[in-house]
Amino acid sequence: MSTKPTVAFIGAGNMARAIIGGLLENGYPAERIWATGTRVEKLADLEPLGLCTGSDNDAAARAADILVLAVKPQIMKAVCEAMTAAVVESRPLVVSVAAGIGCDSLDRWLGGDNAIVRCMPNTPSQVQTGASGLYANARVSAEQKARAESLMSGVGLALWVEHEELLHAVTAVSGSGPAYYFLFMEAMIAAGEKLGLSRDVASQLTLQTALGAARMASASELSPSQLRSNVTSPKGTTEQAILSFQAAGLEAAVEQAMQACARRSRELA
Ligand code: NAD
Repeated sequence: MSTKPTVAFIGAGNMARAIIGGLLENGYPAERIWATGTRVEKLADLEPLGLCTGSDNDAAARAADILVLAVKPQIMKAVCEAMTAAVVESRPLVVSVAAGIGCDSLDRWLGGDNAIVRCMPNTPSQVQTGASGLYANARVSAEQKARAESLMSGVGLALWVEHEELLHAVTAVSGSGPAYYFLFMEAMIAAGEKLGLSRDVASQLTLQTALGAARMASASELSPSQLRSNVTSPKGTTEQAILSFQAAGLEAAVEQAMQACARRSRELA
């Protein structure tokens, strides 16, 4: 029998399934993974993988060394309060992936004195290329921090922030970030079509270019700014595009957008 900690997911939707996929991919023993949901039939695909599935959140909390809260934020309070007795009894490390719900609220709803890690993941976690910001409250031990980090590393990059407040900045950069790139892709595809390409060709070229640029920037020791400068010859074609972006105020627009995102994240917290 494996001695790995038992990880129980309360809510087995998109985000939980992404993390479960990462665990299994890394050889985590399936019998050490629990997943609950209100409708058991929706968990039917997880059972053959060897996971413990069901609708009993209390049983999952009692079994858990790591309790991952992965329900929608609007029902989190009710779900936590219904599990308080089981959590107080088993004292798992609580990892919440819910956007905008602070450690203090979670701790109160779960009976107090809990070790809690808050995590702000993003949607590319579903393809194991996520980027998550993590924050640990004062009760989280070094060993528990390592466990939480290993859990989220299975779906991509996992980085710690020192202050909970910084999760708003994480939301503005990586939490909501995929949508900024999707918007940029939409605009490039539309402009490619206006230049005469078919939608299909414009789409394929745009997506592959985004992937290539991200891979190149990740693999390189050079900063994005240096990489850009390397491909921008004086009086060349790229320079014309960059000058046009700058004249249109791209940098200021990005900063404003991210400030607005962080502000909204604070309002919702
Ligand atoms: P989802 O709707 O796909 O999953 C939520 C799951 O919770 C559903 O499967 C539902 O059946 C289950 N559920 C509802 N009530 C329950 C209960 N009482 N007990 C147990 N399970 C119950 O949502 P999601 O996209 O996976 O989001 C889950 C959390 O992850 C949210 O809090 C969200 O803020 C956070 N998050 C998600 C993403 C993402 O990329 N999907 C990104 C950042 C944060």
